[in-house]
Amino acid sequence: MKTGLPFLHPHCRECISEARRKHARTTRISCAVIVAYALLGRPPALGASPDGCIAGHWIAEAVSFVEGETGRPVPRVCVRWASPETVNRLILSPAPNETHGGAVAAAYLPVNGEIVLANDLDPGTPLARSYLVHELVHAQQFEARAYERASCPGALEGEAYEVQARYLRAKGLEDDAFLFEVLGMLQRACGSS
Ligand SMILES: [Zn+2]
Repeated sequence: MKTGLPFLHPHCRECISEARRKHARTTRISCAVIVAYALLGRPPALGASPDGCIAGHWIAEAVSFVEGETGRPVPRVCVRWASPETVNRLILSPAPNETHGGAVAAAYLPVNGEIVLANDLDPGTPLARSYLVHELVHAQQFEARAYERASCPGALEGEAYEVQARYLRAKGLEDDAFLFEVLGMLQRACGSS
């Protein structure tokens, strides 16, 4: 793969539009990008440990699920809260707000080994936790340097959406699982429909 931005979501806008045509409900997406930490404001301390990383059994549960599904360990990551506006600013898309209303829920930052979650997500809901699952898959991929072997960035997204869908299905959210499955399929096509 030639790109220097292995965890960018270059097809977010197209895939969201396509998915919405097939599935008449709105959703939020997970995105992963490489950015400078300076872009991040200090997140609120919602269940955060002194170093600012969120602590909670729901994080351990998500890690355990990803490891069980993929058969690979999840590297150590710091999960932080950030405002939805901040998470959106992390996305290196020309104008992400134009097409999906700024609805980016999460991002993985390989440079810092951090996952940022929009702080309006309720971690008590499986849908919110599924965004963490998605980003944990990206953390695994980066650790394994999967971007060097992927045929396109979307191939990495495809896996992340697939595991996210499996998590949602395991929680009984069949409709949401279907939507993310479609997103994963579109991403894995590497631009060829
Ligand atoms: Zn992603």
